[in-house]
Amino acid sequence: MTAATTLPSVFLSHGSPLLPFEDIPARGFMAGLAKIWPRPGAILSVSAHWQLPAPTVSAAPAPETIHDFYGFPDELYRLRYPAPGAPALAHRVEALLRGVGLTCAVDPGRGLDHGAWNPLLLIYPAADIPVTQLSILSNGGPAAHLALGRALVPLRQEGVLVLASGGVVHSLRQFHVDRERPADWAVSFERWLAQAIESGDEAAMLDYRARPDGPLAHPTDDHILPLFVALGAGAGVKGRALHRGFAHGSLGMAAYAWE
Ligand code: ZN
Repeated sequence: MTAATTLPSVFLSHGSPLLPFEDIPARGFMAGLAKIWPRPGAILSVSAHWQLPAPTVSAAPAPETIHDFYGFPDELYRLRYPAPGAPALAHRVEALLRGVGLTCAVDPGRGLDHGAWNPLLLIYPAADIPVTQLSILSNGGPAAHLALGRALVPLRQEGVLVLASGGVVHSLRQFHVDRERPADWAVSFERWLAQAIESGDEAAMLDYRARPDGPLAHPTDDHILPLFVALGAGAGVKGRALHRGFAHGSLGMAAYAWE
């Protein structure tokens, strides 16, 4: 672990699995992100693509690169992210969650899904920082994920980068409708969310599905749930936009930090 510098809690929108090859602003943004903060001693990724009934953290010593997508070009399946695992961090996460009365299972071998390794390939291409993943919950909403994040706050002073990965607007139905410009509901939700994050309006964020554009932006909640983990790990400060924008029409690509 590195010295006692407090690292941020971060939420990224990972977009399409083709992100590493795409000529979109979000790709360039991620490629420059490592320069913003001190180098972490380890990374805890919280991806939308690992969803289980109970919180689970991976203690894999050398996590495999999971290609959890179908029908993409061969070059994408050849990519690997061979970072070392972080078993010590996994057990620290387990202790923190149990310490606040939550459960936490430890998976001895689960690798990194594309929600984790796609952004990491751009942010830390050398793949030399230990990384592990914490699952999101298949039966817990925003408040449960906020509580998960709150339990992780101490990690940020232990050289750990909490890197949540999902999407601010993630409707794959719309993805196939208009690839040129975002739909009105996507723009309105994206702007509202930015304002809520930057003003620290936690209550409004927790109730996002009550908005007419909430269920349109998130037909299922899996891609916004990691945001609540990052928000919780942000320990109550206001978030800061690192990047805003859309890709493929209505796929929101915004990223935020709590620091
Ligand atoms: Zn995804």
